[in-house]
Amino acid sequence: MNKESTNKAIRLFAEISIESMKKLASEGRDLSVETLIEAVQLKKEIITFFSNKDVQVEQASQLEKKNKQAVSQKDKMLKQMQETEDKSIKTSKFYRQALSTLTLLLLDSKEKNKLQTSLSQFKSLIQEETDIDLLSDALQNLKDIAFRGSIQEAAPDEKQKPSSFFKKLLKSSEEEKPEEPLPFQTIFIKHLKTAYQDILDQLNLHLGENYLESISSLGKQIREGNILDDFLKIRQDIIALVSEYINNISAERELTAEFIKEIGKRLIELESYLLESLSFSINHDQANQEFNTLLEKQLGDLRSRVDFSKTLTELKETVVSRLEIINHALEDKRLKDKLHQNEADQKVTALQQHLAEMKNTISTVNEQSRMLEQELLNDPLTGAYNRRAYDRNIENEMSRYLRYKRPFSMLLLDVDHFKKINDTYGHTIGDKCLKEIIKRIKPALRDTDFLARYGGEEFIVILPETGGEIAKEAAERMRSIVENIEFLHKKELVKITISIGVTQVLPSDETHETIFHRTDQALYKAKNSGRNRVVLHTK
Ligand code: GH3
Ligand code: MG
Ligand code: MG
Repeated sequence: MNKESTNKAIRLFAEISIESMKKLASEGRDLSVETLIEAVQLKKEIITFFSNKDVQVEQASQLEKKNKQAVSQKDKMLKQMQETEDKSIKTSKFYRQALSTLTLLLLDSKEKNKLQTSLSQFKSLIQEETDIDLLSDALQNLKDIAFRGSIQEAAPDEKQKPSSFFKKLLKSSEEEKPEEPLPFQTIFIKHLKTAYQDILDQLNLHLGENYLESISSLGKQIREGNILDDFLKIRQDIIALVSEYINNISAERELTAEFIKEIGKRLIELESYLLESLSFSINHDQANQEFNTLLEKQLGDLRSRVDFSKTLTELKETVVSRLEIINHALEDKRLKDKLHQNEADQKVTALQQHLAEMKNTISTVNEQSRMLEQELLNDPLTGAYNRRAYDRNIENEMSRYLRYKRPFSMLLLDVDHFKKINDTYGHTIGDKCLKEIIKRIKPALRDTDFLARYGGEEFIVILPETGGEIAKEAAERMRSIVENIEFLHKKELVKITISIGVTQVLPSDETHETIFHRTDQALYKAKNSGRNRVVLHTK
């Protein structure tokens, strides 16, 4: 709201307020804020004023909206202008190009028929105001037709008379070279430069790396070309380049495909030979070394020849012949390896047989030695240990006692009146009795106890970790067992008893002999005191 309308509003409001106050006074009503507001609200003007205000606000917002639309329209128009400008630049560029191409095409009046269709299509496109991109494509198409026509016709026979727009340029210099350059020629050469450069760019995209050098040299010639003769030469060079490319790709493609197929086959063969050869190459150092040298030489030779090969055919021949040699070498090596492997296999089989025999021999010898040892330490009649085993055992037990003070006891058993048994029943029965006595008393002993035949009908027992009293109890059990054996000879009961002397190792004992001596004394006592009894010698 501006200043003028503000003042107007204040004024209106003041007048209405005064009038309302007058009215209230004339009606005799109280004058308060509430009554005044009520009176003012009844006034038409104030209602109109506020209604107008709403309209104004509405109008302002509409204006703002319109303003925004205008700004956006302006941006749109600017963008369209920019696009039109771009299009115009593109169009002018296109027409420049089209002009140069058409100039060149029109130079060749004989080619009109060939190009007529494309040209008339192009013309109608221009008349229809076709999109510039479509026009560019059509122009490119036109160029391609002209370009292809030249190349296809020029390539098969160089002597053939030129007919397309390129060939037009090949006409002898005498024919075309004017004595003085005309302004037309200056423009024409300018267009030639653009058109040739255009063609060169196309070639650059299509011909690939091998032709880079030729293309760049042609580019230089185009840039430096001043007279028509220069361009006649450039044109000839371009046609020669493309002809070479076309000839090369068709011949080379065939040759390459065949070559690649052959190389692939050879490589597969080579690989399978190598794999086979590897499995046969164990322990064959010298042969391997010879083969490796050969392989390295062939591969080195191959590498150097590949470097010097000038043509694909030459390269192909080199590679194939080298691969042939390598294959033969591999085949040779494979056979040699196989032979060597067979020999090795036979040797291994023989060795394995020999090993098995050796194992048998060793186990036989082991068994024999085990038996010998048993014979050496055992009493053949009773199966108890013998005197030699006792000597070894008592030495150990004594050492243990002297070092660790581990106690042990000793028992000496003697068959009572054995002489009489022998005399009565015979020596063989006597032997059987001895055998039976040992068989019966063995189960009464612990695994760690030691029983040996000391000599004749005397047996000695060592009880490790056992004191005298316990040893005496064990001796008593043995005595009782023997006493209760029922020997039958011709249905007659043969009574056998044994006497046992017992002692335990004492701190005063320095050798096992003293212990044995005490045991022997105890046995003597047992015999003297009536036999079939156990006597313990305590000190
Ligand atoms: P005691 O010991 O009770 O005093 O009387 P003894 O008759 O057993 O005593 P002596 O030592 O005089 O006799 C031992 C006999 O044992 C002598 C021998 O013929 C016999 N004898 C020794 N070794 C063997 C043997 O291997 N087989 C047999 N059958 N008899 C043996
Ligand atoms: Mg005896
Ligand atoms: Mg005896």
